[in-house]
Amino acid sequence: MSESSIFTRIRNGEIPSEIIAETENTFAIRDIAPKAPVHLLVIPKTQEYRNVVELAAGDPELMAEMIGLANSLAAEHSDGDFRLIFNTGPNAGQTVFHVHAHVLAGGLEEASLG
Ligand code: ADP
Repeated sequence: MSESSIFTRIRNGEIPSEIIAETENTFAIRDIAPKAPVHLLVIPKTQEYRNVVELAAGDPELMAEMIGLANSLAAEHSDGDFRLIFNTGPNAGQTVFHVHAHVLAGGLEEASLG
């Protein structure tokens, strides 16, 4: 079995972080280093998929569940509009290989992509 990711350790209560929402198979936390007024992470409860490509191929319903939670959170924490980012691979800035969606919202009108 692979080592527990930081997100699995958060979910298990081994690292303190508030779980702000959850669905049957996903949960959400606030990013510790926010890049936007609202910066949340939506994460599957298991670390089976390392990135969004593996997730989409292996379990598209789980991906849809993540996007549904992202949509609800954007409505709850901002005006409903949001940007969804999946960094994929180290050269794209991915540091945690437990797939997660960055949900960015609030005051993004002036922000360029990335
Ligand atoms: P990057 O670190 O380049 O953003 P990822 O796309 O893999 O790469 O995202 C990991 C995210 O997890 C980062 O935005 C980071 O700020 C966040 N993070 C790391 N540790 C914690 C933590 N303990 N609580 C909340 N967010 C965290």
